Amino acid sequence: QRKPTTYEHIFKFIMVGDSAVGKSNLLLQFIDKRFQPNSDYTIGVEFGSRSIMIDQTQIKLQIWDTAGQEKFRSITRAYYRGALCAMIVYDITRRESFENLASWLSDCRKFSSSDVVIALVGNKCDLEANRQVSIQEAQDFSKEHGLIFFETSAKTGQNVDDAFEKATQQVWKRL
Ligand code: GDP
Repeated sequence: QRKPTTYEHIFKFIMVGDSAVGKSNLLLQFIDKRFQPNSDYTIGVEFGSRSIMIDQTQIKLQIWDTAGQEKFRSITRAYYRGALCAMIVYDITRRESFENLASWLSDCRKFSSSDVVIALVGNKCDLEANRQVSIQEAQDFSKEHGLIFFETSAKTGQNVDDAFEKATQQVWKRL
């Protein structure tokens, strides 16, 4: 009997950040090219996966979404456990979501492994007129904390694939 010869790499990714910054929609856009407008409540995707190729190797990303638990600050350690990449998302039109980054970062460092790749994602870049966080200060923050940084729009899809792909490349390099 022949054994399967392809070994599949599976990477656990997690999405964190304040409520309503667009975590679920980023996931939806990445796995399904969809956007859910005007959802007052978190749509709560919970989980999604998509395979991408890095260095001619098939990698399956298993991406966990908080499904609204962040509202109650009740994200469990199990959520962080085994994550190879954490995407910390803020909303470029909501200053407060940027100011809360330090606390998300500290949770990631506390509960994930020490070599976790952390990507900072400034979402809703389609809403330029309402911008409350400059690219420069987000870059400074990223540099200071050793994060990779992207601005995205889950609505238009701008930079979404790129953010997940670059993050995956970073994880791949650290393996
Ligand atoms: P979550 O709570 O962080 O998972 O955020 P959601 O994905 O539920 O999004 C919260 C709200 O922001 C929803 O009304 C979305 O339609 C909206 N939203 C999410 N991403 C974007 C974006 O990139 N641009 C715009 N204009 N709205 C967005």
